[in-house]
Formats: sequence, C-alpha cells, structure tokens
Amino acid sequence: MWNAPKVGILGGGQLGRMLVESANRLNIQANVLDVENSPAKQISAHDGHVTGSFKERESVRKLAESCDVITAEIEHVDTYALEEVASKVRVEPSWQAIRTIQNKFNQKEHLRKYGIPMADHRELQNNTPEELAQIGEQLGYPMMLKSKTMAYDGRGNFRVNSEADIPEALEALKDRPLYAEKWAYFKMELAVMVIKTKDDVLSYPTVETVQEDSICKTVYAPARNVSDAINQKAQALARKAVSAFEGKGAFGVEMFLLEDNSLMLCELASRIHNSGHWTIEGCALSQFDSHIRAILDLPIPPKSLELLQPSIMLNIIGGATPDSHLKATEAALSIPNASIHLYSKGAAKPGRKMGHVTVTAATMHEAETMIQPLIDVVDEMRA
Ligand code: ATP
Ligand code: MG
Ligand code: MG
Repeated sequence: MWNAPKVGILGGGQLGRMLVESANRLNIQANVLDVENSPAKQISAHDGHVTGSFKERESVRKLAESCDVITAEIEHVDTYALEEVASKVRVEPSWQAIRTIQNKFNQKEHLRKYGIPMADHRELQNNTPEELAQIGEQLGYPMMLKSKTMAYDGRGNFRVNSEADIPEALEALKDRPLYAEKWAYFKMELAVMVIKTKDDVLSYPTVETVQEDSICKTVYAPARNVSDAINQKAQALARKAVSAFEGKGAFGVEMFLLEDNSLMLCELASRIHNSGHWTIEGCALSQFDSHIRAILDLPIPPKSLELLQPSIMLNIIGGATPDSHLKATEAALSIPNASIHLYSKGAAKPGRKMGHVTVTAATMHEAETMIQPLIDVVDEMRA
C-alpha cells in the first residue's frame, strides 16, 4: 500500500470537488487552497485546507508545506509560486506546462513546433484598430479575436464579422493581451481527455461537445456519427499535443472536425475538464480517479478508460432566474439513468456552471431519448 500521500489542490471549485471525491474513496487526503467553504472543501472535513487564493504566492507556499504533491483544478494560477515550491514538493503537471498553457497564444506557438494543426493566428502588439484591420486582411472575416490569458467559457472571445466590428471587439476585450484566429468552419467539435503518467500517455474515447453561447452545453460519448478512424485519429492528435508538455495528470484537448474530416486543435487545458465529466459514469475510472492516480504514480489499467456505456452529459447552467438550475435539477430527478451532480456553488448567475447530469444507456439513441425532456427544460430556462 502507498504511504498515505497528501495531495494539494489549487482551486476548490467543482473540478476540485470532484477530484476530492476521487481522493476520498482512496483515503487520500486532499488539501484544498481556496476561499473558505468552497465547493471542494465542503465535502472534505480535515484541518489541512488553506484559506487564500491560488494567485497568491504566500498561500501556495503554505499549501506546499503540508503536501507531497501539488496539482491544480484551474490553469489561471500563479506559476511563479509553483516554480518556487517545486524544489520542495512535486508539482503535477509541471509549472512550465501550466505557464505555457495558461497563455493560449504561447500554448499555440509551443504546439506549432510539434506539428499540431490549428487555425492560423496572429498576435496583436498594441491592440489598435489599424493593427486588427491589417490582421483581418490577412486572416479574412469572420475571425475570432481572443484574449491570450484568463479565458474561459468564451469570456475572452469576440467574433469579428467584418472590419466594422473592430471598434466594438477591441472595446469588449480592452486591456487584455490579444491574438486573432482565422475562423474554423467546423462541422463538429470533438474533445479527448488525455492522462499523462510517469511512462505513458493514455486517452479516453473521443467525445462530441456542443457549445451554446461559447459555453459547453452537452457532451456525447462516443461522438455521434464519427467513424472509428476519426475517433482514433482524434485520440492520437490529443496524445501528441499533450506529449509536448512536461508533467503528469489529466489534460483536456478540444478540437474542430472540419468539413473534409481533418482535425484542428482548438485549445488544450492542463487539468481535468468539463468534456470529461461523463467518465464518472461512462468508464471504470473517471478522469478524476485517473488524475489522482497519475500524479501519485499509481497504476491505471488502460482498459479502465474504455467506454462502458454510451453517455450524454448536460451542464446545468445558471439561467434567467436565480433558481433556474434548481428547477432543472428537479426535472432531472425523474429522468431514468440520470446521475445528478450539483456543485454547491451558492447563488446562480446566468452562465455559471451549477451542476451537471449524465445519462447512460445501452445505445446512444436510448440515451438521447431519455435526456431530451431535460434538455427541453434547460432550453426553456436559458437566460
Ligand atoms: P473554455 O471554457 O473551453 O476554456 P475558452 O474561453 O478558452 O473556452 P475557446 O475554447 O478558445 O474559448 O473557444 C470557445 C468556443 O468558441 C469554441 O469551443 C468554439 O465553439 C468557438 N471558437 C473558438 N475559436 C474558434 C475559431 N477559430 N473559429 C470558430 N469558432 C471558434
Ligand atoms: Mg480555454
Ligand atoms: Mg475551449
């Protein structure tokens, strides 16, 4: 048996909470760094948690003192703090990987060296309309203006349809470091969860993700109407992209499937990911189980990452009223085979991820039929 290692987690949101659920089942203590009573801390009663922020040097130092290995549920952390503590405690994945990945432009420049296909893009130096207009001439319209840093749920993206949109786009993303991306005319978005261990790079099956207003709405595992060849190709691309980074743990890889069936990387995340929540019910080892095992060098039988049953995950997102998500949850209670996960994040705001529901069934068609009434409820409650 292993020697009761203590895991430190930067961030106590829903991803941290689900990591704690996995750690708890192995009697592994997870010390969470975040504000008091954050979702992950609520399900973990011990005195090893740290109150503070994953963006503060002092808090990260304090967490490092009590842990054998440190990991993060979010990429927007102070990597200089991680660099400092890396001499005393293991940091997984590496602070170098997190630092490169947290800046989407640097991430892409890094991946380019490894031959990973992605949309053509240009960096902005001074965020002026003239500069962006020049880039627009090179990339064509529409193009996506993106914040290099602190981006999530599309908050950091602005679709620029023509030169006329440029002032509004720059106003929306002002004071942020920016780059622009050529529009990707995809027929579908795919994602793959990759698990990097001390000597292997493993992947879960390819899933289909559907975003609405740039926020992930549903995930279909396996991806619907996607050939086994594409499924395998997407997994291979995801593993290749993740292999470009140092360190162990789960990485979420988002991709575009283009009209000609070629694949392009959208972005990757150095952490457990929304597109992998279905693995809790859909596989023998969830992405959270695998992450904990990977960072602690515990065995991960590759077979445990295979799909057990077709699964559909639906995010429960804050809607038009503060209790929209509760109404959606109430509806989910009557859906057969539905596993409900609420994150206990307190007050709902429009667009805030409050929970998710996963339905599994013998066939994808059956799962689609079972979850449809819940999708209808969620659609009615949209903000
Ligand atoms: P996340 O919450 O996944 O971290 P994010 O804020 O980092 O999101 P992206 O993943 O870059 O943003 O983009 C969000 C969504 O916007 C994508 O899933 C896709 O639907 C759309 N999108 C992004 N880039 C492009 C592009 N170049 N062309 C067309 N659509 C795009
Ligand atoms: Mg992102
Ligand atoms: Mg994304």
